[in-house]
Amino acid sequence: MDFANELISWYTQHKRDLPWRHTTDPYVLWLSEIILQQTRVEQGMPYFYRFLEHYPTVAHFARATEGEILKDWQGLGYYSRARNMHHTAQVVMQQFGGQFPSNYAALISLKGIGEYTAAAISSFAANEDQVVVDGNVFRLLARYFGLDTPINSSRGKKQFTELAQSLLPKGKAGLFNQALMEFGSLQCKPTQPLCETCPLQSSCFALSAKKVNQLPVKVKKQPVRERFFNYVVALRGTQIALQQRGAGDIWQGLYEFPLLESQQVLSPEQLLQHDWFRTNFGDTSRIEWVHGPVKHLLSHQRIFAQFVVLQVPDTATAAAPWQFVSLDAAEKLAKPKLIFEFLIKLITFIRK
Ligand code: SF4
Repeated sequence: MDFANELISWYTQHKRDLPWRHTTDPYVLWLSEIILQQTRVEQGMPYFYRFLEHYPTVAHFARATEGEILKDWQGLGYYSRARNMHHTAQVVMQQFGGQFPSNYAALISLKGIGEYTAAAISSFAANEDQVVVDGNVFRLLARYFGLDTPINSSRGKKQFTELAQSLLPKGKAGLFNQALMEFGSLQCKPTQPLCETCPLQSSCFALSAKKVNQLPVKVKKQPVRERFFNYVVALRGTQIALQQRGAGDIWQGLYEFPLLESQQVLSPEQLLQHDWFRTNFGDTSRIEWVHGPVKHLLSHQRIFAQFVVLQVPDTATAAAPWQFVSLDAAEKLAKPKLIFEFLIKLITFIRK
């Protein structure tokens, strides 16, 4: 059996029963593909069901507000994905008559849909001869064919994609792509691949050359940036100060507490003496609680956040850009996971 048929035969026996594998509806496939980017299947599954329930069609998705979409997305990270989806749903309504496209050329024109996602949706929905190359596929191809071009370089991406495309059996792209990815995920795993039970073992380069642990090759990642966030959690009675983050940085459009970013961790005393604090909160505010620093990891950033909870006088007014809202309203607004988790702790603390 050749490579493609070997994989397809393995796939029919070993595939996981995942909900998006029972549909060829491009809208549903799009939901699953975007949700699962940078996300494990177990983590993405509840979001997939939630989105399908709240927005059963692209028309429902387009009609929702950005705030509703972000709220449902809360906890998944990479919030620009949710904003792009909202924009794309509206474009589909306006330019495609509400029919989510299933061909590569139309899909790639939509915001948030790159080559990978366009290939996935067009092959799963319409069996278009487009190959899908994700991390699992890179790994399998690098090991099986003995390729040491870095998989995160543009040269590597081109080489692996061309190779995969040449292996694709015409007219069976959906099945082949699923098989390729599932095999990489379950059999040719990143660590401790199951070589002993592998149907490709007799022709695998990495196994015979004892290079399974050296392949695939990656170039060094961009360094992680450290940031220090000092959040002032200002309570005015049962109201709390919140602000919405602007463009050009992480968490665009999400809500957080008034923030002073510093070059290093500030002690609560240093924060209280800082000009920014004195201008905005004066010296009559009372510190109730200090929490953190809490470490929060993003793909290229490591954030150390501390939360200083204050009671401000009833007469305090919000300085732009923040506003005082009730705790109930604060719970309903879309927030980064870091803020959401602290707010839950705070509300438990207050209501004790
Ligand atoms: S033999 Fe091992 S390294 Fe080679 S394809 Fe199979 S699981 Fe991957």
